[in-house]
Amino acid sequence: MVKLSQNQMFCFQCEQTFQGKGCSLMGVCGKNPEVATLQDLLVYMLRGLSQVQMEAARLNLNDERVGVFTSEALFATLTNVNFDPEGIIEYLSRAVQLRDGLSAKIKSAGRQSALTGGPATLVLEKTKEGLVAQGKLVGIKSDPTTDPDLHSLHWLLTFGLKGVAAYAYHACLLGKKDQAVFDFIHRGLAAPLDKSLGVNDFVGLAMKCGEINIRAMELLDAGNTETFGHPVPTKVPLGTKKGKAILVSGHDLIDLEAILKQSAGKGIYVYTHGEMLPAHGYPKLKKYPHFFGHYGTAWQNQQREFPQFPGAILITTNCIQRPIDSYKANIFTSGPVGYPGIPHVSHDFSRVIDRALELPGFTEDKETKTVTVGFGRNAVLSIADKVIKAVKNGHIKRFILVGGCDGAKPGRSYYSEFVDKAPKDTVILTLACGKFRFFDKELGTIDEIPRLLDMGQCNDAYSAIKVAQALASAFHVGVNELPLSLVLSWYEQKAVAVLLSLLSLGIKNIRLGPSLPAFITPNILKVLIEKFNIMPITTPDADLKAIME
Ligand code: SF4
Repeated sequence: MVKLSQNQMFCFQCEQTFQGKGCSLMGVCGKNPEVATLQDLLVYMLRGLSQVQMEAARLNLNDERVGVFTSEALFATLTNVNFDPEGIIEYLSRAVQLRDGLSAKIKSAGRQSALTGGPATLVLEKTKEGLVAQGKLVGIKSDPTTDPDLHSLHWLLTFGLKGVAAYAYHACLLGKKDQAVFDFIHRGLAAPLDKSLGVNDFVGLAMKCGEINIRAMELLDAGNTETFGHPVPTKVPLGTKKGKAILVSGHDLIDLEAILKQSAGKGIYVYTHGEMLPAHGYPKLKKYPHFFGHYGTAWQNQQREFPQFPGAILITTNCIQRPIDSYKANIFTSGPVGYPGIPHVSHDFSRVIDRALELPGFTEDKETKTVTVGFGRNAVLSIADKVIKAVKNGHIKRFILVGGCDGAKPGRSYYSEFVDKAPKDTVILTLACGKFRFFDKELGTIDEIPRLLDMGQCNDAYSAIKVAQALASAFHVGVNELPLSLVLSWYEQKAVAVLLSLLSLGIKNIRLGPSLPAFITPNILKVLIEKFNIMPITTPDADLKAIME
């Protein structure tokens, strides 16, 4: 066992990891060793909770709260979600309560648990220092005897599960749950503790993780569309409106709706930031007259964009960055998001509204561009005849899905250049925050079909999959035979889950950038290349040439 020293940590779960290898002294994201270590301990304890839950399920002593809690707690360990040590400690104590409650149930059913050590029975220390010391023993590098490829697969699966958990948690908030999703999260979390499982088992589990993630995204899609209606094409102003202002970032449409309801009639206009942009396309959200427009771009620009926003800011999910002094007093978090010293609110957003009323707001109307959102599966499939005709008559040569996360690396300019250079007879489908590299470009239309179709947030990869499957069926071919190319950018663990979903569907020839995951070993990469022909992006010119050939 390797014990990290007081000032050490190890994390390699996201694309911006230090030098493409791992953050060991401080996270590039701002996560410090204390929080990183507490998160390691939380993941470890969730593995133990999962073991006990699986044992309980075998005895029909299932407790659905465990699945919901595990999803939320795992979500809190995603990149840029929760930097608050006290918040992580609270999750640790709830994990222990649930685990011990389940163990007591097993005992009172007259059964003897087979789990006699590890995180299924570990007694947590009472102090933060004690917990950090425990976390130092159970992190990513804690077992150097594990075969590197097996270790790589353990973490590919764990990071994929974090993505599944994020979507499952959102779906739960909308009243959509499936025990099969929770069961797999538990099975996947517990799997690395089972030393009898080998490389092939984990390849299978990673594919199953992708499959389950489609179910989680489907639940979330159903939750969003049944609650707020199917997105419709909607023009969203990028300018500002004279009046008080609230900015809502993240993915949680329920929080956004609550803000809209609670701020109505108060002279406040509500703006979206980052991944919240697609919210403007939902009929039951766009009906609010004070839901005005979109401010700024993607998550990594918040320290540049938030100081200029003259109102209150709510971060509902990832990705929060360290709030700087100029807007620290204006920002709030909700859901699994946390930052030390930043107020956390839920359901009642009066503190956010009061802060917006104290701040000056925008002093004048400013008209600039608009962008169009709302091309979810319903909107795209409603014009399927037009699309099929344009493909058949050769006006559309290829669809290119340029989607995924945005980030700070200069290499990400690839994606804007790629879209700029894409031939005029291509249609660009996009989703998630990677689109902020090109979301306001005027790409024109082909036979009245916009050349740039914004399908939504990262979870709307589900919509893209449904559209691809519908087109494949219309053309009587498989998805890999469609004139469709996927050029993806990844940053955090939801993107890992989406990538596994695409692979689980057998989708080949995906181009991935800006760099490949640090947690994938050369041997595992070789398997992915052989099986799926997944490849790194190169240059826009070379990749476009290859795609269009
Ligand atoms: Fe580093 Fe990313 Fe982990 Fe943050 S989440 S510590 S940037 S690897």
